[in-house]
Amino acid sequence: MKLGAELVIIGGGPAGCAAAVMAASVGINCTIIEPRDRLGGALWHIAATDNVLGGHRTGPSLATAVLADVARAAPQVVRGKATSVEARDRSVSVTLANGERVTGQHVVVATGVKPVQPHDAPWITTTAPLTLPPLTDADPTDAVGQTWLVLGADRPLGTFLRANPDLDVALLVPHPSSDVYKTEEIARDPRVTLIPVDVLTLDAEGIAQPGDLCGDQTFTNIGVTPIALDGIVRDPDGYCPVAGQHSRVHIAGDLRSACGQRVQTAMGSGAEAALDAYYAMRR
Ligand SMILES: Cc1cc2nc3c(=O)[nH]c(=O)nc-3n(C[C@H](O)[C@H](O)[C@H](O)COP(=O)(O)OP(=O)(O)OC[C@H]3O[C@@H](n4cnc5c(N)ncnc54)[C@H](O)[C@@H]3O)c2cc1C
Repeated sequence: MKLGAELVIIGGGPAGCAAAVMAASVGINCTIIEPRDRLGGALWHIAATDNVLGGHRTGPSLATAVLADVARAAPQVVRGKATSVEARDRSVSVTLANGERVTGQHVVVATGVKPVQPHDAPWITTTAPLTLPPLTDADPTDAVGQTWLVLGADRPLGTFLRANPDLDVALLVPHPSSDVYKTEEIARDPRVTLIPVDVLTLDAEGIAQPGDLCGDQTFTNIGVTPIALDGIVRDPDGYCPVAGQHSRVHIAGDLRSACGQRVQTAMGSGAEAALDAYYAMRR
């Protein structure tokens, strides 16, 4: 068992990093639990952005600056994946996938969201289990001269096209007919072929029906789903609202709700969560 941080932060994305920096600024020590080998979360996948302050035009540029701030705050970082949170009268205990436990006085949960896979999409039928990479992980240098099958027309597709305006790639994009409203930004791009469908059937080779749709690579771009942990209050969609949690449990970032999933809202909520913990400790 790892003991003793006043604040345990689960997830080292912008929300968790903001919580760590705020905690340090008010003199409480913290431990960040993060499974990946670097902090920054989804920031590393934002190829182009125009809505963050500070002059950063890409996520990696902002992530690099955030990491420097976190390094100055000097939290302990535990490499691992949290699976559950147990809040008691005087402490919280976080269990990791390897069985270790990390305890503290309060916890900020900022695990964010993950891509929806085809088998979880109501408009896709899969004939075999299939886990696809998200479009946000696609390497544009692989795309040159290729045709990609992109399942779903969610927002990352527009970001991908804006970030790579001259990329020579053909994108086949089946999407549910009800999502036509999401296609406004991308519909005029000649590289995109939008294919509204009611139901799509996908086989183990990644070939989709109707139409024998296939590409050199296939990506999921269907949406996201919250990464909630056991022991945290969830709403019917799996998100974890800020209100209604145990008084030692503070939720931050994209995990809070399907609305408002943005870098700056994540940072604001992370900072606020750390302050809530600080005021509760002082009381
Ligand atoms: C492609 C893309 C483009 C985007 N473009 C923009 C944009 O232009 N502008 C904008 O404002 N927003 C944008 N966003 C949204 C923005 O990135 C998110 O709102 C923000 O990163 C949310 O921060 P977060 O800390 O809540 O979650 P995340 O950034 O997702 O970080 C969560 C962290 O928790 C970790 N974690 C997950 N599970 C566990 C676990 N079980 N235990 C411990 N740690 C765990 C993850 O590894 C990750 O490091 C974009 C997102 C994507 C994917």
